[in-house]
Amino acid sequence: MKRKVLIIYTGGTIGMEKDYSTGSLFPFNFENIFSKIPELKLLDCIVEVESFADPLDSSDMGPEEWRKIALIIEKKYDDFDGFLILHGTDTMAYTASALSFMLKGLRKPVILSGSQLPIGDLRTDAKENLLTSLYYASLYENEEAVIQEVAIYFEYKLLRGNRSIKFSAEYFDAYQSPNFPPLGQSGVHLNVTKEALYRAPKEEKFSVDIYFSEGIVFWRIFPGMDFSMLKEMPSLRVLILQVFGSGTIFSDPQILETLLEIRSKGVEIVVVSQCFSGSISIGKYENSNVFKKISAISGKDITPESAITKAMHLYQNPRYSKDFAKEFSANLRGEMSE
Ligand code: ASP
Repeated sequence: MKRKVLIIYTGGTIGMEKDYSTGSLFPFNFENIFSKIPELKLLDCIVEVESFADPLDSSDMGPEEWRKIALIIEKKYDDFDGFLILHGTDTMAYTASALSFMLKGLRKPVILSGSQLPIGDLRTDAKENLLTSLYYASLYENEEAVIQEVAIYFEYKLLRGNRSIKFSAEYFDAYQSPNFPPLGQSGVHLNVTKEALYRAPKEEKFSVDIYFSEGIVFWRIFPGMDFSMLKEMPSLRVLILQVFGSGTIFSDPQILETLLEIRSKGVEIVVVSQCFSGSISIGKYENSNVFKKISAISGKDITPESAITKAMHLYQNPRYSKDFAKEFSANLRGEMSE
């Protein structure tokens, strides 16, 4: 039986071509993708395309567009076996993370992909990314989808979406998942690492939750910074502090005072690391104990993109308990280690 995949084209380099008279990139009508890549017809699946009316540079993607994608998936969930979202690479990790929290009880593949060079470029990486993404989006075994989560396929690697980071603006190998092994790798054979795949709890039915809140701030600390500015953010609800190494911060007593003051206003504080890989470990060094004193939430080995979208999704979400610390600390979709 031929599987059906819906391509949702949102924008980004993958759907652009060069105007050789001006040298600029402009979006082409993605419904014409079959004439650009005739090989698509050779794939053993049926492909349909739905495009955003105005394709976006992914720096313009946010909660409104995440909702739009999630609602398309909800509407077409029963009609398709898999979904491929074509997206600019700049914020793909945010969209993938957001979707992973929005799509509950997912039993079908939702793959995001894009490219570093436009599809019409001689050296383009778009063709391989597109064709192999379609392969993963239509991969079934014993009537069950092999991938049942939101993933990013880029340059021979299938990665968990909410574990991924855009690592390079230059190399084709643009995405990495530093704290989690690839879900699949394409070489001569297209492989899947079955032990790494996420499975939603059996009793969880597929549903879409489009809730996102405001008031989330992400702060990277640096030596010599003025911390007191944090006191002057009246709409702050959740502060994600990106601290050093495994969870350290300067020992200046003003830090404790500032953080306690913020906490007393009901602000939640999550601690994540500036390191690309590894985990937060509060209590390991003396200079991390301040976070114990203010009952901060450890983001463990979560990516910044995942921490931000998770906080936006959970804070005061009526479908979750009011205990933000408990909800954030839970591993919801394989986004952080237990
Ligand atoms: N600026 C583009 C975007 O993220 C880059 C890309 O598609 O790779 O939309």
